[in-house]
Amino acid sequence: MKPTFIPHSDYQKSVLQQLRNDYGPGIVLINKDWPLAVKFWMADLSAITTLLYESYSDQGPETRDPASMLRSYLICLMTNPEMGITEWINEMKRTPIYAILSGFTPDDLPGVGTFYDFFSRLWPVVDKNLKPKSQRKRKGKPKKGKKKGEKAPTTTPGRVKRLVEWMMRHADRKSALPSDRLFNFFQSQILSVSADLGLLGDMSALTVAGDGMPVVTSVYPRSKPSCDCRARGIADCNHFRIYSQPDCNSGWDSAREKYFNGYHLYMISAANSKHDLPLYPRLHPASRHDAVSLVVGAVEFKQRFTLGAVDKILLDAAHDAEAIYRLLDHQNIEPFIDLNNRSKKNTATDSDIRISPTGIPICPKGKEMKPNGFDKSQNRRKWRCSPSCGCSSTKYGRTYHTHSSDNLRLFPKTVRGSDKWKLIYKRRSSIERSNKREKIDYKLESGRHRSTMMWNMRIFGIMICQHIDAWYVSQKDEWDKLKSTIYPAIA
Ligand SMILES: [Zn+2]
Ligand SMILES: [Zn+2]
Repeated sequence: MKPTFIPHSDYQKSVLQQLRNDYGPGIVLINKDWPLAVKFWMADLSAITTLLYESYSDQGPETRDPASMLRSYLICLMTNPEMGITEWINEMKRTPIYAILSGFTPDDLPGVGTFYDFFSRLWPVVDKNLKPKSQRKRKGKPKKGKKKGEKAPTTTPGRVKRLVEWMMRHADRKSALPSDRLFNFFQSQILSVSADLGLLGDMSALTVAGDGMPVVTSVYPRSKPSCDCRARGIADCNHFRIYSQPDCNSGWDSAREKYFNGYHLYMISAANSKHDLPLYPRLHPASRHDAVSLVVGAVEFKQRFTLGAVDKILLDAAHDAEAIYRLLDHQNIEPFIDLNNRSKKNTATDSDIRISPTGIPICPKGKEMKPNGFDKSQNRRKWRCSPSCGCSSTKYGRTYHTHSSDNLRLFPKTVRGSDKWKLIYKRRSSIERSNKREKIDYKLESGRHRSTMMWNMRIFGIMICQHIDAWYVSQKDEWDKLKSTIYPAIA
C-alpha cells in the first residue's frame, strides 16, 4: 500500500506519548542518550515519504512509515555502526529507546525484509550493481605507489586528457545514475538545511575539496568460472567469470601499503565548513586513480548541485594534470592544486626567457625573476629581474609577462605559493578530516555489503549523520533548552 505521510510534529507527539504513557516507567532517558534524542527530535525527515510515494503500489499490505525506516537506519549508524540489520533489530528490542526514537513501538518492529524493501525503493533500478556480474577475467594487479603514501600510478596524462575532452563534449547531457534518488533527498532535505544554517560556507562562491579513499570490502575478489574448461583440463581460457562484487576490483591502498579489493570512494566536500561536511560521493572500482574520479565527480556534481555555485576547488598533487585545469576553468571553478613535478627541466618560451617547473620565469642569466604585480587591464602577471642581474641593459631591468590562459597549470590566477594561495589551500585538509570521520568514527568499511546499492545506502546514511551531528553542535545551546520540554514528560 501507499505510505501515509506523517508530519514531523506527529512523530514528535508520538515519541513524547510513548515516553510518557506507554513506556515511561520502564524507560530511562539517560544523559548519554540526550544528543541522539534531540538530533532526531529536530531533524525533519518526513519528506522521504513524499519522495518514495510513487514507488509503492496501491495494493498490498500496509507500509511502514518510510521516515521511521530511515531514522532507524541512521540511529543504527550513529550508535552501532558495525551492526548488520538483523543485529540492529535485536538491539532495538534490547534498547527500546532506539525503537521509540525511530518512530516505532518497541513491541512492533519491522523485520529485515522490510528494511531491504525500503532500501531498494531508494535505488530505482533492478540491478543492485552498476556492471554485470559476468565479466572477462581480470588482468593482474595495478602498480604500487613507489613511496609510502604515494598513490598508485595507474593513470596517464593522456588518459585523463581523453576523458576530460569526452566529458566536456558531453557535459550538457546528464545521464541518470541509480544513486540520484538518494542524492535528491540528501540535497533537498539535508544539504539545504546545512546551507541555511551557514555550515557549508558562502553558497554563492563555495570552496570545495575533493579526494579519494579506499573502501575495502574484502581481501580478495570473489569470482567463479562460467564454464567447465578447468575440469576438462584447459587451464587458461577466455570465458567470462562471475564476480560477486562486479563493481569492485583490486587497488593499491597507499596508506596501509597493501593491495585490497573494493571501491575507490571519491568525495567532494565543503572545504570552508568548520564541520568538514561532505557534499557528493561517488563509488569507483578500487583501481581508479584520483585524477580520473575527480573528472567524473566534478562533472556529475556540476550537473546535480543546485544550492549554490562552486568558486574554488582544492586538490592534492595527484590531480596535477593539465586537462583537469582546463576542465575546471571551463566550469568557472578556480583550481588550487599542488604541483606534482616529475620533471626538473625548464620549459622554453618564444623568447630567451625559460619557465621553471614551478611556473617561475628564468632570465637569460639563469636567475628566477621576481613577481612584480598584476596588470588588470592586460590580464597578465608581471615579472622582473633587477638591473643588477645584468641580463638586461635597460635601467629598469628585464621584465616578462605571463597569462593564465597560456598555461593554467603553471600560471594559476592566484600565484601558487603566495600567502593568499596558502591561506586558501590550507583548507584542503578538510576533505581528509571528513573522509576520516566516515572511515574511523562511522566505521564505513564495517558494512558487510555485496552490492553497490547497499554501499551507497551506507555512504549516504553516514553523510546524513555527519550533517545532523553538525546541526546539533552548531545549535547546541538552543537545542539543549529542549530538555525542559522533553525531560519532564518522562520524569
Ligand atoms: Zn572456459
Ligand atoms: Zn636576470
